[in-house]
Amino acid sequence: MSKALKILFVASEALPLVKTGGLGDVAGSLPAALKALRHDVRIIMPAYREAMRKAEKLAFASFKMEGIPETVRLLEGRLPGTRVKLLLVDSPSHFDRPGGPYADPLGHDWADNPDRFALFARVAVAVATNHAELDWQPDIVHGNDWQSGLVPALLSLYPKRPATVFTIHNLAYQGHFAPETFEHLHLPHELWGIHGLEFHGGLSFIKGGLSFADMISTVSPTYAKEIQTPAYGCGLEGLLNHRKDRLKGILNGVDYNHWNPAKDSYICANYDHRSLVKKALNKAALQKEFGLPVSAQAPLLGLVGRLVEQKGIDLILGILPRLVELGAQVALIGSGEKHFEEALTELAAIYPNHIATFIGYDEPKAHRIEAGADMFLMPSRFEPCGLNQIYSLRYGTIPIVRHTGGLADTVVDLNKETQSNGKATGIHFQHSTLEGLLWATERAIHLYRNEPELWRTMMVTGMQQDFSWKKSAREYVQLYQQALIQRDASTTP
Ligand code: ADP
Repeated sequence: MSKALKILFVASEALPLVKTGGLGDVAGSLPAALKALRHDVRIIMPAYREAMRKAEKLAFASFKMEGIPETVRLLEGRLPGTRVKLLLVDSPSHFDRPGGPYADPLGHDWADNPDRFALFARVAVAVATNHAELDWQPDIVHGNDWQSGLVPALLSLYPKRPATVFTIHNLAYQGHFAPETFEHLHLPHELWGIHGLEFHGGLSFIKGGLSFADMISTVSPTYAKEIQTPAYGCGLEGLLNHRKDRLKGILNGVDYNHWNPAKDSYICANYDHRSLVKKALNKAALQKEFGLPVSAQAPLLGLVGRLVEQKGIDLILGILPRLVELGAQVALIGSGEKHFEEALTELAAIYPNHIATFIGYDEPKAHRIEAGADMFLMPSRFEPCGLNQIYSLRYGTIPIVRHTGGLADTVVDLNKETQSNGKATGIHFQHSTLEGLLWATERAIHLYRNEPELWRTMMVTGMQQDFSWKKSAREYVQLYQQALIQRDASTTP
């Protein structure tokens, strides 16, 4: 094994303390997976009210950090459920308030977000440069999304500094603020400019990560390529293309302790690839739970997710009447934009024997859809990584996915070659159109009805895929090693 690294993981959310999206999942799992590979990882996060309530046994770790007001403290504990050291940045005026990590209880972004995350970044930099009385200096500082974007930028000004890595979980959120914010935050002038934090005349936090980190990553190899194009780059494609030699895609892992049909306590009959007959019991139970006619023959399609345009919900709505004509059933759970929720509920009322919806967030139900459905729909317009299709593979539920981002990287499309070498695990379609989704779904239903052996082979192959964190954590370690090499190349006189 290579030398153990000291890693400071900078995250604005981490399960089980706070989660709003994919970053929360990753920050809750990757540090523990790195620790299991014997690296010394500490995670630093703001001490939000919610995090303080859920964190256990916190102790004061530091009262004095260089360049930080005296009202700010650093608290130390463990990320619950792991042995990973947790550092919480305790500044009550910034973080002790009701609501979410980025927005108030009504969903409006906090007006002082630039101040909050500039302070967070400055404390992370004090820790990273061993100016926080912790007697610990990391080799690697790993920032995530715009909230930690200033960390690589500020660290770039230190002649002796740790190597920096920055991961994009969601490029759509960039931390873009008015130009005056730069002065207001007293950021060093050398960081301004189009090669620095300036973006279309304003201040961009995410550019701090994208322009200054020694290495950049995002959560799948295909998405890493896509974000270098105007269609997916959210205006940052030029910069990402310029830095493409530093940009890698590393798939998120999934937690197979939690998503495993052989042990899942939310489902009525546990099964694995050797006992697939038991999946039929879960199908019947799901049909009952969702008020659909119990039928072993009817193809049952599942969907779990946010009901937003990104996920192609408009396309789903467009093909539902045709699926009804084909005699298929659809069980769907999700919440999101009101008009999607209403349109789906209406269709379920029109076709009660074919379409069943549950509007809301319900994790046990999500597990039962994965276990009971025959196929799983994921027609996303873009998908940095995606988790549900990976769960579907393990549950023997054939994913029907748009060929984009992590969907393209985790599901192997059925074609002549993958059929003959037995590698196929699902069905892809190329374009975000009704025709595309309908073509793929009709194809899947046809195979389900007429090619049972091929179908079964695809199920078994999917169930044997390994998307665990251990594998991804090893790739992050390689990325860290590349970052150290780049750091040395850029700081050697
Ligand atoms: P995204 O992060 O873009 O929402 P992912 O597929 O990466 O999409 O992850 C979504 C996660 O949230 C999955 O674990 C999924 O099961 C869960 N999820 C989404 N909506 C719901 C819901 N309504 N009920 C239960 N779980 C949900």
